[in-house]
Parts: sequence; C-alpha cells; structure tokens
Amino acid sequence: MTTMRRRSLVNWAVIGAALLGVLAGCAASAPRATAVTEGVTRVELGAVKALAVSDGQGSRPLDASFVRNAPLADVQADLKAAGLPTDRLDVPYTALVVDVGGQRVLFDTGNGEFGGPGAGKLIDNLRGAGVTPESVTAVVISHFHGDHINGLRNKAGQVVFPNAKIYVPAPEWGWWMDEARYAATPEASRGGLNTARRVFGPLATSVIRFEPGQQVLPGVRSIAAFGHTPGHTVFMIEGGSRKLLYWADTTNVAMFARHPEWAVVFDMDAEMARATRHRIAELALSENALVAGFHLTRPGVGTLTRRGQGYDFTPLK
Ligand SMILES: [Zn+2]
Repeated sequence: MTTMRRRSLVNWAVIGAALLGVLAGCAASAPRATAVTEGVTRVELGAVKALAVSDGQGSRPLDASFVRNAPLADVQADLKAAGLPTDRLDVPYTALVVDVGGQRVLFDTGNGEFGGPGAGKLIDNLRGAGVTPESVTAVVISHFHGDHINGLRNKAGQVVFPNAKIYVPAPEWGWWMDEARYAATPEASRGGLNTARRVFGPLATSVIRFEPGQQVLPGVRSIAAFGHTPGHTVFMIEGGSRKLLYWADTTNVAMFARHPEWAVVFDMDAEMARATRHRIAELALSENALVAGFHLTRPGVGTLTRRGQGYDFTPLK
C-alpha cells in the first residue's frame, strides 16, 4: 500500500468518526418531550417510546429530620436557590411506561388506593393518555416501598394490570418476604413488611424474581443499586435513539442529585446509598443516558450534568 493510499484511508476514518460524533451529538441534544395531558409526558426515542406518568405527589413539612446529615439551614438554602419553598417539601411520584422490545413495560406502580391525599392518580392519568391497564404486558418493580408497589393490587384484592407478568429484584423479595425477619419484628414496626405481604403474598408463585445485573426483558437491563433498600434496582432501557436510565429512588427529589452526600431519611443504608448514588449517576453520564426518577422534578425525565461534587438534573421540556 502506498503512503498516499494509507493517508487517504486514515483521513476517511477521521471524517467518518467525526460524522458519527456529530450524529451522536444531534441525538444527544434533541430528545423530544411532549405533554400528552397534565399528568403524562411522552418521550420519543425512536424504537423506544416512554410515557412519564404522574401518580400525584406527597407534601411534608420540612424539618431537620428529612436530611439526616445536613443542617436544616443548608437544605433550605439549596431549595431557595432552586426556586422551591423552604417550609415544606413536595415529593412527586412519577412512574414510567415504556414500549420496548415488543412489550409495554410499567416501571413501579405508584400508591394505588393506599397513598396520602394528592397521590394515587396513576390509573386515571394512564387512561387519560389512552393507555389501559390491560395493555401493560410487564410490570417491573425497583423496590418494595409502598409508593412503588401499592398500586399493583387494589383494596378489593384485584391485580390492577391483569395481563402483565410481574418482575421483582430477588434480593428485595428475599429481604421483605423473609419469614424469620417478620417473626422477629415487633408488630408496630411491621408496616413495610405488611405492605409487601399484602401486595405480593398471593402472587408468590407467579412473580418472576430476577437477579440484579440480568437482562429482565429485551431492551431492559437491570443494575444493582442497593442502599435505599436492600435490593433496590435500577434499569437501563436500550434500543432507542438514546438510552434511558430509570433510576427509581437512587435519589429522592432532585436536591439529592445536587448533593449526593446528603442522606434522605428513607435510605435504609445511608452509607451504601451514597456510594450507589455516585456510581449510578456516573453510569448515566458515561452511557449518555437520559435519567428518569420516581421522585425527580416533573415530568420526571431529563438530563444529568456534572456540577461540582454533585450533579444537576434538568427536566425535559
Ligand atoms: Zn419512593
């Protein structure tokens, strides 16, 4: 091969790589988000289509107990800088419905008939967007806290998504459904254990338990993200024009992305949750994934950028 020929090959390789970079850049900067209704936002990612579906929100007075390791004044200063109220905390609930790999997958089910005032709007919002519960073919659960699982079964005992296979992280099942733990826990402290039993007890033989790290469904890769709960798991949704990471409760509200060191009162193992928060945020950045979180700022799907020691979550508009 002559030097000239080799050089021209090299040039073509450089041009090709640059072109791919430009194309990737376009895809990265232009995810489309459309408000379908007040509670539902559609995100088109080519072959993958996602709906961020609000289950309403909770509201709590802000006191020193919410962030366990930061002074209340620092928390209030952060909220003020973000343009948010400083006397209370509004915590959105946003589940995700994704059409991927021939399935319609619901990630977490919301509060159902068991939440506080302002919660439990998932089904009405789904129907408002023209999505029936019957059309959901898979329900994938991130962890067993009530706001994520209570919507699976109503007060009458019926499964709300009758045609869906249900997938749960095996370590999460193992922790919450463990009989010895139940027996050793005083009745007054059994709230979460009772919730898990109400929802999953009658489904013990049909629920599919997967090991975090496994491919759960085509286009849905699970990733261990323990700490918030013992088996908390997140999901990389692949096959569209851009990856989408459903990170569930890796953070509570977006403030905990800005301050990944801060520990929300709900993290069962604060130290592990903190390390997980950094690892999962870095994963989103390294794979250039959009991020969806159950308690993130509406519509609950957006982009992540690095800022100082933490991250900024910017909701899609
Ligand atoms: Zn939650």
